Amino acid sequence: MTTHWIDGRLWTGTAERQGDVYDPATGSVASTVDFASADVVDEAVATASRAWRTWREASLAARSTVLFKFRELLVANKNELAALITAEHGKVLSDAAGEVQRAIENVEYACGIPQLLKGGFSENASTRVDVYSIQQSLGVVGVISPFNFPAMVPLWFVPNAIACGNTVVLKPSEKDPSASMFIAELWAQAGLPAGVLNVVHGDKVAVDRLLEHRDVKAISFVGSTPIARHVYETGTAAGKRVQALGGAKNHMVVLPDADLDLAADAAVNAGFGSAGERCMAVSVVVAVDPIGDELVAKIAERLPGLSVGDGRKPDSEMGPLVTAAHRDKVTSYVDAGVSEGARLVVDGRQHAVDGDAAGFWLGPTLFDGVEPGMSIYQDEIFGPVLSVVRRPSYDEAVDVVNANPYGNGVAVFTNDGGAARRFQHEVEVGMVGVNVPIPVPVAYYSFGGWKQSLFGDSHAYGPEGVHFYTRSKVVTSRWLDPSHGGINLGFPQNT
Ligand code: NAD
Repeated sequence: MTTHWIDGRLWTGTAERQGDVYDPATGSVASTVDFASADVVDEAVATASRAWRTWREASLAARSTVLFKFRELLVANKNELAALITAEHGKVLSDAAGEVQRAIENVEYACGIPQLLKGGFSENASTRVDVYSIQQSLGVVGVISPFNFPAMVPLWFVPNAIACGNTVVLKPSEKDPSASMFIAELWAQAGLPAGVLNVVHGDKVAVDRLLEHRDVKAISFVGSTPIARHVYETGTAAGKRVQALGGAKNHMVVLPDADLDLAADAAVNAGFGSAGERCMAVSVVVAVDPIGDELVAKIAERLPGLSVGDGRKPDSEMGPLVTAAHRDKVTSYVDAGVSEGARLVVDGRQHAVDGDAAGFWLGPTLFDGVEPGMSIYQDEIFGPVLSVVRRPSYDEAVDVVNANPYGNGVAVFTNDGGAARRFQHEVEVGMVGVNVPIPVPVAYYSFGGWKQSLFGDSHAYGPEGVHFYTRSKVVTSRWLDPSHGGINLGFPQNT
């Protein structure tokens, strides 16, 4: 059973509500998780508020010592954390380890906090007047994360928030809560004082309490677009700083001069890795004439050989979906694609699976002849379903991408540097790959989409993350020279 982590220890109360946590590869209930009531959230926020009073005073040296130690513990426990992710999420172990590695890179970025928080200093801005800026913490920050990256997404936010002197209440996905508990314990081992990081589990009740709580100063959210919009609107109406990252429909545009084998490999890797449950997964390939037939054939020939099975088995390439309800929803899109007239090239419902019959399986599906009016194009499916849209020219391919309401990630495959350069300039998407299908920025850039993929002004992690978790103050200071003085009622002039 998983319960909350408040003030450096497990919560000892009795939960009014609980949820089931599944092993998606067997379909069985593996454990339960307590759902926080508004009172439990209040307890976590009160603890975090108290802890902030001392943590905000911790020196940069003290903070970075904890961060370096936490980084070492994450590296040492990488395999154990990956195994926890696979057990509850279903993704294959190598993919889970990759997630942890990207999380570690975000911690490494936060280790540089003394450098990142250096402000500006202008000596003698006016005669004997110095001006300088300082960046200070906000207070208690709420972090709300989705099921698909149970370690990486919390660690996009928590290290930077803590490094900047804030304290945190994390509300991870109720579908795979164990990774965040393991992470909380590693923070404690690293010497993070009790109360600086708290974890509450649950659903809308816990999220909504965080959104309205007066003492929560900022919210970092990642999840689906309808909930991201709700979080942004509710949180900002309550006076908070909010960054709310939402869903996606990521396109991969393949120009006629591209290396089609490279493009087909990339489409398969980015479309079906983690069973398509990545916010940066490619879900639409836009094939520019005349390469459509050849590209579809190359993608199709790669799919029957994909090994779908229990993520714990070393030879599995794709695991199950996270829950039965999600698998059924994704399957219903395959049915809808057929009835809406798309050409079903590879049917994932028929794919052989090496795993327990009760697991939440669905093999890779490929549709051709997909058009923007169809539900398989319009909606974020978040599963192993890849759609091919064909267009006669570069311009019409870019129009398809730019007309889409989402703008998270996009890729162009081409050998023409001029075309790639024009594409990265014209496309209305926040993260662009040139012959790179999943262009997740490294930790020292920032992550975020455009349009309905992000609500708020700040992208996640990197420099924008540090900016989001701090408020700046500018100090104008004059230490009077004993010889200086006199009365002057005029507006201050720089002399
Ligand atoms: P979700 O929106 O269902 O849940 C996200 C979080 O919100 C969870 O902690 C959940 O408990 C909470 N929540 C759910 N319903 C709520 C409600 N009605 N009110 C308040 N809170 C609620 O998302 P998910 O299914 O866990 O994750 C998949 C989604 O996340 C996909 O849409 C995916 O594209 C998106 N995602 C986006 C990014 C990004 O960076 N843009 C990254 C990862 C995932």
